[in-house]
Amino acid sequence: MARIVMKFGGTSMAGMERIRNVAARVKYVVGQGHEVAVVVSAMAGETDRLVGFCKEASALYDPAEYDVVVASGEQVTSGLLAMTLKSMGVNARSWLGWQLPIRTIEAHAKARISTIETDTLVAAMQAGQVAVIPGFQGMMDDGRVSTLGRGGSDTSAVAVAAAIKADRCDIYTDVDGVYTTDPRIVARARKLDLVTYEEMLELASVGAKVLQTRSVGLAMKEGVVVQVLSSFDEPTQDDLPGTLIVSDGDLEAKLKETKMERQLITGIAHDKNEAKIIVTRVPDKPGAVASIFTPLADAAINVDMIIQNDSKDTEETDVTFTVPRADLARSVDILEARQEEIGFRRIITDTEVAKISVVGVGMRSHAGVAATMFKTLADRGINIEAISTSEIKVSVLIDEDETELAVRVLHTAYGLDAPAV
Ligand code: ASP
Ligand code: MG
Repeated sequence: MARIVMKFGGTSMAGMERIRNVAARVKYVVGQGHEVAVVVSAMAGETDRLVGFCKEASALYDPAEYDVVVASGEQVTSGLLAMTLKSMGVNARSWLGWQLPIRTIEAHAKARISTIETDTLVAAMQAGQVAVIPGFQGMMDDGRVSTLGRGGSDTSAVAVAAAIKADRCDIYTDVDGVYTTDPRIVARARKLDLVTYEEMLELASVGAKVLQTRSVGLAMKEGVVVQVLSSFDEPTQDDLPGTLIVSDGDLEAKLKETKMERQLITGIAHDKNEAKIIVTRVPDKPGAVASIFTPLADAAINVDMIIQNDSKDTEETDVTFTVPRADLARSVDILEARQEEIGFRRIITDTEVAKISVVGVGMRSHAGVAATMFKTLADRGINIEAISTSEIKVSVLIDEDETELAVRVLHTAYGLDAPAV
C-alpha cells in the first residue's frame, strides 16, 4: 500500500465524460489498496474565461477579487469529481484550499504555499476516504482566497504530496510522459523512463512545457518523486507507465539495478520566446556592462544568454544578450533612456531567433558535448549567434527558421532517435 497524490490537468477534467474517466482511474488506484488524494485543475479553457470576466468587470486590476473569481474553476471540478466518485461507490470528499487550509504568502494571483495543514486530511485518507483538492488555490493569512499563478495546480499537487509525505505524485496530463524532444518535430523522439529534477528544470524552462517549472523546483527541494503520465491511456497493471522525475542518486541506483547505461544527453529543448539585443560600441572599461544590466535587473527583466567581446583594435565592445520576447520593447526603452550614461552607439534587435538546448546530467563527466553540438549544426550550415552553458546544459541561439532542422539533426547526433520500426 502506498500513499499517492493523483493530479489531473484541465484537458483531463474538461466535461463530465472526462471527469467520469478520471473517477474510474481514481477508483482503480483506490482498488489496489492505496491511500489517495486527488488534485484537480479547472476544466480546460475555464480559467481563461474567468480571467476575461475580470477584465470586463473592471479596468482596474484587483488581485484579491481576481483570485475569488479564478479560483472558482477548480472549486467546480473538485466538487464534480467528488460527486462522481461517490456515485461510483468510492468514498470521497472535496477539501477547498481554505478548508484545509493551504496557507499562502506574498501576493494575490501569484501566491506561494507556505504550509498545508494535514492532520484532518490524513486522518480522513487513513479512514479510506479519497480527498479531492482543488489545485491552484489557497488562503492568505487574512483568510482571503488566493491563487498560485497560471499553471499552479502542478505546484499544488507537489506541495500536497510533500505535506502528506506521499510515496509519489502522479501528474496525469495530455501527454504520456517526458520525451527526448518535441515529438511533433522528431517522430522518433523517445519517451524517457527516468529524468532527474535538474534535467526536468532545464527541459521545462527551455520550452518543454509539461509541468509548471515551479512545481519541479519544489519537488526537488522536498524530494517528491513525480511521475508524468497520460490520463487517456487505459489503467494498467504496470504501476509506472510514465516518466519518473527523481533525484540524481535515485537515477544512479535505478540504472545500476537495471544495468542500463546513463545517456550522455537526456533531451533537446527549443524555445522561441527569446529575443536578441545587440548594444554596439560600448566603451571597454570597468562598469560598462554593469550599466547595461543593472537597470534591466531593476526592472525585473530576466537576461539569459550574454556575449561580450572586446575588440582589440578599438576601446569599444559589442554586448549581445537575450531577454524574453515579451520584455523586448521595455528593455529597449530602458537602455535608450540611458544611452548617454552607458555610452553605446546603437541598439539592434532580433526576434526571429530560437534557443536550442541539449540537456543531460551525463555531460558532467564527459567532454565534447558542446563540440558535437557545434559541429553538427555547422555541417548543416546553421549559424550560431550566441552560446551559453551550465553544468548540465549547452544552449545556442540560432535563426528561428532553422529550429526544426537543428532539433532533428542534434537528436540524431546524440543517438537519441528511437529504433526505426
Ligand atoms: N486552472 C489554472 C490555470 O489554468 C491552474 C492550472 O490548471 O494549473 O492556470
Ligand atoms: Mg497545466
